[in-house]
Amino acid sequence: MVKTYFNYINGAWVKSSSREKVDVINPANRKVLAKVQFSSRDDVGKAVEAAEKAFDKWRKIPAPKRGEIIFKAAAIMEKKKEQLARLLTMDNGKNLEEARGEIQEGIDITKYVAGEGRRLFGETTPSELRDKFCMTIREPIGVVGLITPWNFPFSIPCWKISPALVAGNTIVFKPATDAPLLGLEIAKIFEEAGLPKGVLNIVTGSGAIVGDEITKHPRIKALSFTGSTEVGRKVYTEGAKRLISVELEMGGKNPEIVLRDADLDLAVDGAIWGAFGTSGQRCTATSRIIVERPVLEEFTKKFLKRVEKIKVGNGLKKGVFMGPIINERQMKKILNYIEIGKREGAKLLTGGYRLMDKEYRKGFFIAPTVFTDVTPEMRIAQEEIFGPVVCIMPAENFEDAIRIANSTTYGLSSSIYTKDISKAFKAMRELESGIVYINAPTIGAEVHLPFGGVKGTGNKGREAGTEAIKEFTEVKSVFIDYSGRLQRAQIDVEY
Ligand code: NAD
Repeated sequence: MVKTYFNYINGAWVKSSSREKVDVINPANRKVLAKVQFSSRDDVGKAVEAAEKAFDKWRKIPAPKRGEIIFKAAAIMEKKKEQLARLLTMDNGKNLEEARGEIQEGIDITKYVAGEGRRLFGETTPSELRDKFCMTIREPIGVVGLITPWNFPFSIPCWKISPALVAGNTIVFKPATDAPLLGLEIAKIFEEAGLPKGVLNIVTGSGAIVGDEITKHPRIKALSFTGSTEVGRKVYTEGAKRLISVELEMGGKNPEIVLRDADLDLAVDGAIWGAFGTSGQRCTATSRIIVERPVLEEFTKKFLKRVEKIKVGNGLKKGVFMGPIINERQMKKILNYIEIGKREGAKLLTGGYRLMDKEYRKGFFIAPTVFTDVTPEMRIAQEEIFGPVVCIMPAENFEDAIRIANSTTYGLSSSIYTKDISKAFKAMRELESGIVYINAPTIGAEVHLPFGGVKGTGNKGREAGTEAIKEFTEVKSVFIDYSGRLQRAQIDVEY
């Protein structure tokens, strides 16, 4: 029997008012894993109502106590780690090792921000007037709407849910249409941890209905979105109409630069992991490898040798490095980009096709694909492909490599391999991205550091790290005058 998941609204697991359900498919073999609610706008309305009702009580629970519930949730996640990782591999396709890593990332951020319950720091400052005290305090925003993608269906929701909760907000959360099960498991975990009813609500369904309603709902006070730049722009526009805060984490076209003095074996290791980890379906995936001409041939030869050894298959199988593509539509999109690359005159070095024999027939698998002779103006060098396709691009020198790296509208992550400390520091300064790696691949965030991008990737906000709380709080400035008389700032100043 296929399991049915329900929406979680006001502390109860409920059917959608639409009475419709959709199948959740394992992308490795198209088996139906579960059914989830295909929710209506009305369901979002109910979730907002519940979250609004729960807000006043939740925000008044002392933050360290809110943090304790979040610590409990992290402990439950730890206990369930293996079970969650297996579900993640079936729901999303990534291999089991990566799935375990993703669950760990969710645990890490949950623990990290739970501790913020004992911090939530404001500032105290001197006043320009006598017998007056000034400080800032951080306050929750209210009901926040969270919308997340399928490629990190556990850790990205944790990045948003845990800080939003510790800061005292209540939540309406929509996981991605593909791979929604981990989001639902998170709600179960917080329920088990003792989160009061209505504080976290989850509504599954389509972006066009549930996502759209969340972005437009007048009683949602802030939005946090991770997904494509195309949808992010719509979310931003809707938020702007209501003048609410909107945090956007969107696409990438991340470069790895390999300079002539680089340790080439290390650069190859980084490029393999960066380009083909999670089958290239990461916002931080390496999609361009920019190589200084003197080492281009040697790097390409070494890289190709490794690419041809990549084992593709069901992520639950031992030794599989690259799992399937999330769905048929995405697979077709990637195959279409491969055709575009060929038409544009790039040279297809390896891959470029759907894998169809035996174990692959039922799933959505694409061979790891490498293009060379790629120039910056080509679409495959500019647009996010979000699959196992990487472009090798020659650069004449360091400056040229930086210019090529910066030549897209995105700016999430970039990496450079060099032994020259001066070039490494110059690259840190010159690369237009929110994240820079030196002698490491473009992927691999750590939760205590801020995460996010510049240019078309984001709108200045950052998730995780010291920024996580800022996203979900308002700052209030407080002035306490204990002089017992009227003191006018800038006027009654005494020296
Ligand atoms: P997507 O934009 O298609 O969907 C993201 C979420 O938005 C999903 O929950 C979807 O249902 C919802 N949605 C779709 N249409 C909507 C609408 N009109 N209104 C409101 N919500 C709507 O993205 P995806 O395919 O799920 O994920 C892949 C994208 O996410 C890639 O572009 C990737 O780079 C990006 N991503 C970015 C980061 C980051 O931190 N920068 C992290 C992971 C993924």
